[in-house]
Amino acid sequence: MTEEEKNCIFCKIVRGEIPSYTVYEDDVVKAFLDISQNTPGHTLVVPKKHVKDIFAYDDDLAAAVFSRLPKIARAIKKSDPRIVGMNILNNNGKVAYQSVFHSHIHLVPRYSAADQFSIHFTDNSANYDEAKYKQVQQAIVEHLED
Ligand code: AMP
Ligand code: ZN
Repeated sequence: MTEEEKNCIFCKIVRGEIPSYTVYEDDVVKAFLDISQNTPGHTLVVPKKHVKDIFAYDDDLAAAVFSRLPKIARAIKKSDPRIVGMNILNNNGKVAYQSVFHSHIHLVPRYSAADQFSIHFTDNSANYDEAKYKQVQQAIVEHLED
């Protein structure tokens, strides 16, 4: 075990050294209640393997981890008839609000527009023309095989 894995809070939860309210577990992932309970039922899905963020996944790990989400999401939704939607999000990097550097996916059940969760997307399309979209598109496409 690396020093990073030894000290990582989610690795400790995976190893059972720190308690958690586990709702699902198999050989690939562990899902447990987020201590903050942003909305009731707020759950984290973490790969058992220590990976820092989305940039560190390989295809197989991503397929395995993300394939677990619908089953867990359905169970959360069925746990309370008041749940009418769900935000699923994954923060990568401090600037993107990642605070625990063992990758995790937030499942945040939604009860109403007034519950304690919000995401605000800014529409900057007025600042883009075809050339600018294409420039951004090309810069990404060029790196897909890196
Ligand atoms: P993020 O800001 O995306 O890195 O999310 C980290 C999340 O981990 C936060 O929502 C915390 O509430 C949650 N968290 C931190 N420690 C624990 C813990 N021991 N058990 C459950 N959730 C935790
Ligand atoms: Zn870890």
